[in-house]
Amino acid sequence: MIDLKKLQLEVFQNKLDKWFNTTNIDMEFNLLNWELAEAFEAYHKDTWNVWEELADVAIFLLWLSEMLWVNLEEEVVKKIEINKNRKYKKSWKWHVKV
Ligand SMILES: [Mg+2]
Repeated sequence: MIDLKKLQLEVFQNKLDKWFNTTNIDMEFNLLNWELAEAFEAYHKDTWNVWEELADVAIFLLWLSEMLWVNLEEEVVKKIEINKNRKYKKSWKWHVKV
C-alpha cells in the first residue's frame, strides 16, 4: 500500500529544495488547474504523456495539501467511506444525492 503522507512530505521537500512556491495558495490552485488542463489536452491529442500529466496533477495536489496542512491520505480515506455510504436516486438525466 502506498504511504501517501510520506509521498506528500517527499514531494514537498523537493519543492523546498528547488525554491518553488510554498506560500502562495491561490497560485498553487491555479497551477493544479493548469496541470489538469495539460492532462486533458494530452488525452485529447492521444499523446502518451497523459500519464506524466496525470502524475503532475497528483504531485501538485500533494504540494497544495501540504501547504494547507492537510493530510491528504486521511482525507481521501474518509471521503471514500462517505461516498460509499451515500445514497443516490436516478433521475432522467443524472444521479441525485438523497
Ligand atoms: Mg505538466
